[in-house]
Amino acid sequence: MSDTRPTMKPWIEKIHAYVPGKSKGSDGRELVKLSANENPLGCSEAALAALAQPAVPARYPDPDATALRAKIAEVHGLDPARIVCGTGSDELLNLAAQGFAGPGDEVLYARYSFVVYKIAARRCGATPVEAPDVDYATDVDELLGSVTEKTRVVFLANPNNPTGTFLPRGEIERLHAGLPSDVLLVVDQAYGEYLEDGEDDGGMALAEAHDNVLVTRTFSKIYGLAGERIGWATGAPHLIDALNRIRGPFNVTNSGQKAAIAGLGDQGFVVKSREANNRELARFAETIAGIGNHGLRGVPSKANFLLVLFEGRLTAEAALGALAEGGYAVRHLPGQGLPHGLRITIGTPEQMDEIAEILRKAA
Ligand code: PMP
Repeated sequence: MSDTRPTMKPWIEKIHAYVPGKSKGSDGRELVKLSANENPLGCSEAALAALAQPAVPARYPDPDATALRAKIAEVHGLDPARIVCGTGSDELLNLAAQGFAGPGDEVLYARYSFVVYKIAARRCGATPVEAPDVDYATDVDELLGSVTEKTRVVFLANPNNPTGTFLPRGEIERLHAGLPSDVLLVVDQAYGEYLEDGEDDGGMALAEAHDNVLVTRTFSKIYGLAGERIGWATGAPHLIDALNRIRGPFNVTNSGQKAAIAGLGDQGFVVKSREANNRELARFAETIAGIGNHGLRGVPSKANFLLVLFEGRLTAEAALGALAEGGYAVRHLPGQGLPHGLRITIGTPEQMDEIAEILRKAA
């Protein structure tokens, strides 16, 4: 055997492999998973029916996801030539960093934002830079104040994960207007479908009007198709061209393309999911506010989860344990600077009642 071996690139060495939350309780019981922001209603019946029709496994999928891009374009009023699909939006976020940043460059995002931004920056050898938050929310002035001549890509999740906070249209426009035109702004709208009518953050309009804005979306959240791994991005032709050059040629499976098309065709399911989520989110936020005198605080959320901060006697760690004892897995993110918070996905009314009861007792 040789005494030398391939050496990992130093920027790859800095990446920690993804560690999923615990899925089993101390007694080995499977926990109810409210840790990954999945849709508790599952997916549309139409998507299920599409998945039940077997594709030909020996055949590669359409490399350009032509029918899926056409359906996305139809539903969102976009040009299919300005859309690219990915293996989840994760792939597209990584490609955006890789396409436009490299060693010596900086990739900027807010503290307490989606964990993939840091990984995406590191994967391409760029330096991740975190702008300070303001009480857990992304702050446009802080982001703009963190831009240097090395900044090449800015990521912004809206609503944001893991905080659920939301920046209105005026703020996104102000951020874009303050950025040099050669910096790519990626507006990650993974939770965009949970916004009520009239709450559009304007990201799509910016992506249509400017050469330096990319919007990403996913079928993993409200569409309930996380297991199929499908995301998409829209932006100016040269942005889409860059992503097409470096994506996997067959990056969306046959079944994923079919299920996503069927899901898009059932907007009734999307509306039902949004209404159920927003009703339960409001109710859960109120419950947490009701135990606020015990040091629990919910960060205002417009997504399908609530970040609960534990600022009193009950620690997030102890609450995580109590919830696991009660049969629930939620997300504790000490590695993201949130040892004092739990991100709890909004589940069914019964699940949220149980969670509220467990937290009330533990507090
Ligand atoms: N962006 C944000 C803000 C997310 O929270 C997630 C999922 N956790 C994603 C992107 C990626 O989702 P997917 O790769 O499943 O499309």
